[in-house]
Amino acid sequence: MENKLYSPKVMNDILKKYNFRFSKNLGQNFLIDGNILDKICDGINLDKDDEVVEIGPGIGTLTSALAERARKVIAIELDKRLLPILDDTLSSYKNIEVIHGDVLKLDLNNIIEEKFENKKVKLAANLPYYITTPIIMKLLEQKINLESIIVMVQKEVAERMKASPGSKAYGALSIAVQYYSNPEIVTIVPKNVFIPKPNVDSAVIKLDVYSKPRVDVKDEQLFFNVVKGAFSLRRKTLVNSLSSSDVGINKEEIKEILRDLNIKENIRGEKLSIEQFALLADSIYDKKN
Ligand code: SAM
Repeated sequence: MENKLYSPKVMNDILKKYNFRFSKNLGQNFLIDGNILDKICDGINLDKDDEVVEIGPGIGTLTSALAERARKVIAIELDKRLLPILDDTLSSYKNIEVIHGDVLKLDLNNIIEEKFENKKVKLAANLPYYITTPIIMKLLEQKINLESIIVMVQKEVAERMKASPGSKAYGALSIAVQYYSNPEIVTIVPKNVFIPKPNVDSAVIKLDVYSKPRVDVKDEQLFFNVVKGAFSLRRKTLVNSLSSSDVGINKEEIKEILRDLNIKENIRGEKLSIEQFALLADSIYDKKN
């Protein structure tokens, strides 16, 4: 099968042949645009030495595009009705292995170690949107051996991941993603490039994973608690949000730390950079220990 699976006619023929019905629960919206596939492959700079894990191959549209350019692709698909279809559509590719499983339950580290001799791999995914952010965070937090992640997300989620301090979209997700990686929006994806059409616009975002987090902190858990606490009461000042969170610090102590760090007392969490959050968390750590 040539890499033309994205053609609506070819896709519809396949779906008809297998009497396939889309599952809304599994977020099944399949791509029908070759340009977006090219942008995804270009976005992660695929070359012939690359090893790729794809999550949620569907009928294999992106899988085949990745396999044309990479050394090896492992594709993980949960819906067992798609397995015979993938067997068919990907039959001419010798460098693709399909694994039947739920990415939420599989040990990806193990799969990467076993299948790729623990080389750094690239990961591509187009998943149900309600599980995409938790999966990205799990991948980043587990410090799996990934070079980059390219993923389709809801447009607003991409904007939040990429957001800078002071912008409306900036929040705990921006900091968590940018702590581990450098995000870049590769392209905005309109609804009409999917069958069936989803309700929301999407974006392809690429995360270049740092070999070590962007900032050094004394206690990572505390750092993330401080970030969460700072954004817990969005319209309140940092002092008010943090003192009513479970970070375990009172107003006077926070004010003193802010003075020492030369940060205005009435600042709101959404104005602080990751570096300032790291300094703040470390000062709270010192005060508590
Ligand atoms: N990559 C294909 C494309 O772009 O046309 C399909 C994308 S579709 C949005 C999402 C795919 O992820 C579906 O094939 C769905 O069955 C699969 N999927 C959903 N939940 C999954 C999970 N927990 N683990 C693995 N695959 C999953």
